[in-house]
Amino acid sequence: MRSEQQDEQDRAGSRCCQDSAPIDGPSRGSDFPPYERCPPRSRLYGLAPREMGTIWSESLTSYLNRLGWRHGVSPRALVAQEIVPHLSNDYPHHHLAAFSRGTAMSINGNGNVALEWSSILERLTAHSNLHVLTLHGWIGDLSSRGHLREKPSWCPVCYTEWREQNIPLYQPLVWMFQVVTMCPQHKRRLQDHCPHCQKHQSVIALETFPGHCTQCNTWLGVDLNSPREPEVDNETLRWQEWVVSTLEELRLANSLTGALSWEGFFASVERCINVKGGCSKLTELTGIPRTNFYLWLGRMQASYNNYTPSLEALLKFCYTCDLAPLHIIADASSLVQFVQGGAPPQHLPFHRFERESVDRDRCLQFILAVLDGREEPLGASQVAERLGHSQRALLRYFPQECILLTKQAQEYRKQRRKLYVERVCEEVRRAVMSLHAQGIFPSHRRVRTQLSNPNFMRMPEASAAWHAARREIGLDGEL
Ligand SMILES: [Zn+2]
Ligand SMILES: [Zn+2]
Repeated sequence: MRSEQQDEQDRAGSRCCQDSAPIDGPSRGSDFPPYERCPPRSRLYGLAPREMGTIWSESLTSYLNRLGWRHGVSPRALVAQEIVPHLSNDYPHHHLAAFSRGTAMSINGNGNVALEWSSILERLTAHSNLHVLTLHGWIGDLSSRGHLREKPSWCPVCYTEWREQNIPLYQPLVWMFQVVTMCPQHKRRLQDHCPHCQKHQSVIALETFPGHCTQCNTWLGVDLNSPREPEVDNETLRWQEWVVSTLEELRLANSLTGALSWEGFFASVERCINVKGGCSKLTELTGIPRTNFYLWLGRMQASYNNYTPSLEALLKFCYTCDLAPLHIIADASSLVQFVQGGAPPQHLPFHRFERESVDRDRCLQFILAVLDGREEPLGASQVAERLGHSQRALLRYFPQECILLTKQAQEYRKQRRKLYVERVCEEVRRAVMSLHAQGIFPSHRRVRTQLSNPNFMRMPEASAAWHAARREIGLDGEL
């Protein structure tokens, strides 16, 4: 890991000039030698990305967040003021909050969004090559869907160690890959929800600090002396180590070639399934249905023509075949040799119809908090959503608790509805009494105009309250 001091050294060659930003270079007003010796000026601080050119390379959204913090403003405010005005028209200008919490991960992808944001940031910071902080720097021309997680994840041990060593906290791009589930350094599962509020993290932070939950500002590191979580099994460990080393190979190949082309990969698959019996054999050895291969090769109906498999699907395929993607790309006969050799495939730590993996302790803890009233009352489907699982998975492991959650949520909704109706009826009664006191006949129309919401009178309970109040003042039966 690099230190803050190294960061400062990097910045020496990229001074910035921005009114509110710290300026650590010579100013224009001093008796500084000729202007031509001044380094180029940038609007925003020329913050150096962390660990550029390594497997720990920073993600572009992490860079964006750090840039905001370095300017002493919330990253989202920086985006609103400095980036949004430069974005193309198809960007949802008015939905920055929803974008920051939702689809902003595409800033790290390898589509047009990533290109646009990186080039704007390059212009604003005078830092070139920021696009390598996105998937453009890693996976070449593989299309952009399904490679990244929807929400950021992190390693709590990394955060704690960096803080103890006074290293600036950031989010490496490798943590954002869907296929990476463990920290390459600590062999510990990456986290994707806050241990305190259970919520996922915003991609672009609002008012919180680095390494803290973007929803409740709780520190996301871990006490290094606390008991370690259960060890990851060896198969998963081996698979994850292979994934990380393969990603590093892809990143290197991508930086050497400028943009890695996957054309050779799909040509190899095509050649393999065109061999007599090749497709059946490939399906048998890898467990991947033959329709998937047809999808990969665009042989399905037109609506599937733009389908490109996710990096995760491709890496699982390569791992099973015990072949590196670069090997398959470079050697068109590698897959044919694999099926003809009939080599036993590598066993993945998951199956084709893998069951969703569920952290039962974490789920139970949250379910109990809801049932005990320490969390707001939520139904089973809402709990599943908050925990990031399907309702089916929750039902499988916690059938009894799900029944209790549903009952509790129904009871809560019933109670809430009762209070609401009582409030509406009381408002109707007060309106009748007030009109009557003013000598105005409390007709349906007049009472309606007195209410905070005229539609209340459509409720049967409100209508009954109107009749009851009229009876109370001796107008029963008059309409
Ligand atoms: Zn770690
Ligand atoms: Zn939180």
